[in-house]
Amino acid sequence: MAVNGKKKLLPSIKDFTEEELQAQLGQAGEKAYRSQQIFSWLYQHGVSDFSLMKNLPLTLREKLASSYRLSPPSVISTQKSRDGAEKYLFRLEDGCLVEAVLIPARHRQTVCVSTQVGCRYRCAFCASGQMGFIRNLSPGEMVDQVLYPNFVRGVRVSHIVFMGMGEPFDNFDALVKAIQIINHPSGLNIGSRKITVSTAGHIPGIEKFSQSGWQVELAISLHSVEEETRSKLMPINRIYPVKELLAVCRRYTRETGRLITFEYVLLRGINDAPEQARALGKAARWVGAKINLIPCSRFPDSPWQPPERKTIQEFVKEVESQGVVCTLRRSRGKDIQAACGQLAGRNV
Ligand code: SAH
Repeated sequence: MAVNGKKKLLPSIKDFTEEELQAQLGQAGEKAYRSQQIFSWLYQHGVSDFSLMKNLPLTLREKLASSYRLSPPSVISTQKSRDGAEKYLFRLEDGCLVEAVLIPARHRQTVCVSTQVGCRYRCAFCASGQMGFIRNLSPGEMVDQVLYPNFVRGVRVSHIVFMGMGEPFDNFDALVKAIQIINHPSGLNIGSRKITVSTAGHIPGIEKFSQSGWQVELAISLHSVEEETRSKLMPINRIYPVKELLAVCRRYTRETGRLITFEYVLLRGINDAPEQARALGKAARWVGAKINLIPCSRFPDSPWQPPERKTIQEFVKEVESQGVVCTLRRSRGKDIQAACGQLAGRNV
């Protein structure tokens, strides 16, 4: 069908949760259990063609093909880091480019998923923000980033981190649907505790998320507990100041009984002083958070530097002296621009 000279796309079947699909099939006079069968074909077998869904009647397969779009994830380049991380560049239906990273380890295979093309929040040290905001990803476009490594690269993906390009809570509804598809027993069946959502400090998102009652892990990109420093690094701090953010985080840990992770990118000369470490440790103790330090990654034209090794070690000690758990993240895939803060959807 041509509308304004453009081909009108059918809705993507991967944009719907199992419950949504069940309701749509019900309206079309189909049996409720069909949605689970379809889910299993899509997410447990990784098929990208309705005709391969052998336990569905032919008439239903045809009906599906005329009502929904089903295309495999389209990856236009794969880069492999010396440390084993793999970066995939996806080309979306409208030509937008988005990246995901596979981080293999001995006991876990983690995929770092993007939630938006670009990002609105323009954190000073992050490449994704430099692109500006282009658009939200749909649930299926997020799920595709997991399907590709899982079925095309043959990796058994066990963990998901929503830490790629974009701010997950700025795309809340699609994020929730993607999580439901990934988590569903007939879907990818990845447990909610193995899924982490990271936010730049989007307070309404954190509040909605905490009311949901899920067991999904929450990480906060903190980077400074000083209002002025944080506002310079992260313009979102002017909308949601760190003082309020910490109070909301404390409520979250109290009400849910769950731990939060504070991510803290170490930037030389900016947020790496001993007194800043102590203040961070104190804030984390007050909130009930553990800390994940990430020495800043470089990207083209970036003026930011990670601190010297010795400074990092001292920072860790100071934080730990406040009685909080502190780990140092070894960001993977630096040589292929796949590390934290380096994703920018460039086709290079
Ligand atoms: N918008 C969300 C999701 C992105 S997560 C958020 O901010 O949490 C990506 C993580 O990488 C964030 O913790 C981000 O602060 C961090 N990051 C960004 N730029 C970085 C850089 N240059 N070096 C190291 N980490 C960086």
